[in-house]
Amino acid sequence: MTDMKTIAELDRASVLHPFTQLKDFATGRMGDPTIVTGGQGVRIQDATGRSYIDGFAGLYCVNIGYGRTEVAEAIARQAYKLAYYHSYAAHTTEELAILSGRLVKMAPGKPSKVFYGLSGSDANETQAKLVWYYNNLRGQPKKKKIISRERGYHGCSVVSGSMTGMSFYHDHMDLPFPGILHTGSPHHYWGAEAGETEEAFSKRRAAELEQLILREGPETVGGFIGEPVLGTGGITPPPAGYWQEIQAVLRRYDVLLIADEVICGFGRTGADFGCTLYGIEPDLVTVAKGLTSGYMPLSGVIVGEKVYGVMEDAADRIGAFSHGYTYSGHPIAAAAANAVLDIVEKERLSERARVVGAHFQKQLKERFAQMEIVGEVRGVGLLGAIEFVADRHSKRRFDPQQKVGARISKAARDRGLIARAMPHGDILGFAPPLVVSEAEIDEMVDLAYQATKQVM
Ligand code: PLP
Repeated sequence: MTDMKTIAELDRASVLHPFTQLKDFATGRMGDPTIVTGGQGVRIQDATGRSYIDGFAGLYCVNIGYGRTEVAEAIARQAYKLAYYHSYAAHTTEELAILSGRLVKMAPGKPSKVFYGLSGSDANETQAKLVWYYNNLRGQPKKKKIISRERGYHGCSVVSGSMTGMSFYHDHMDLPFPGILHTGSPHHYWGAEAGETEEAFSKRRAAELEQLILREGPETVGGFIGEPVLGTGGITPPPAGYWQEIQAVLRRYDVLLIADEVICGFGRTGADFGCTLYGIEPDLVTVAKGLTSGYMPLSGVIVGEKVYGVMEDAADRIGAFSHGYTYSGHPIAAAAANAVLDIVEKERLSERARVVGAHFQKQLKERFAQMEIVGEVRGVGLLGAIEFVADRHSKRRFDPQQKVGARISKAARDRGLIARAMPHGDILGFAPPLVVSEAEIDEMVDLAYQATKQVM
């Protein structure tokens, strides 16, 4: 077996790591790579033998926890039986057909069909193509622009990276792609005017969206994409009334609504989908992460009846739906998803996220809300965030050079907790596996509290 020192050297010499300061890594300023060697329940281990509570479920994905043998066995069974076949031109596998039936039954909106990719990014790329395709097929070739929100996160490929509403994901990469526009973020804490209620703020954001659509020309705006709960942009549940106001505007101008459920889907918010929780009726839904709990790469684009109907009606005229990947609907990934959904259903993980999530939100508020350096504690279900500010009364931010969020995250890690320093501001984010217990929540919140006290 290769020793861990060699693994670290090989890694530093040859891996181009995502979202990593390359010089810091190359020169060793950020230390050696963390070699993750195992996981069980809510904990992972590294090569030094240290154990951590994974308060972020990998990247908000390992909802069923680590080390679930049922899923490993389902993956192995399918690999032995049939490791691969494609799904082009009406080929299928048992696992794929079964998974699709389940998703169409459980997804929000009026689902008709599921298209598969491998990541949230490529699924949102497909969503954009569907908006363009749909409008071409129904004789509205100008209706192509897609509106997303500032601080939204939808991936980092060309179109999905453009949908992402944070400029540091665009810089030096020639994004955003033309025709992807951004409207104001649903972030009440940072966006509201003094004394503005959540309801009034939601109305203002909806009015801004309407102005943008009118300015561009409604005949040129085809889609709107949003996460039910803004995730990587700050873990921000929507302000009261937000989705009702936004949906009314979209309906008025015949704009398709894409719900990006990559984080929220399959129980994270305490409901099966974020759409269910907030009364969102999407035309198109993006799922990934929780679909397989990260055990295999798989994403889904759930196409609603309205869009699919136009696609099928045009088929005799235009020919095949010419889009798809070698690995669309990969049978091993489908088998993993079916085994994961069995667990989600059997262990009622949405319900569990609601109940344990209420305990989590309470603990987080009790421990942090009164701290002088805390501006806001927010979250829903098993998604939570603490926003640190230099002055809570004036909402003055810390100097970014102080790297307060990153230092607290590092201090937490040194104590055995992974809580993510979110990329936008000084925010500590939490998204533990949905199987987390109340005792583990208490341990997690306590470690985060000690880390914060140590840094500040
Ligand atoms: N959409 C949302 C809401 C996400 O949170 C993410 C990733 O974090 C993506 C899309 C992109 O998914 P992936 O990283 O699998 O491409």
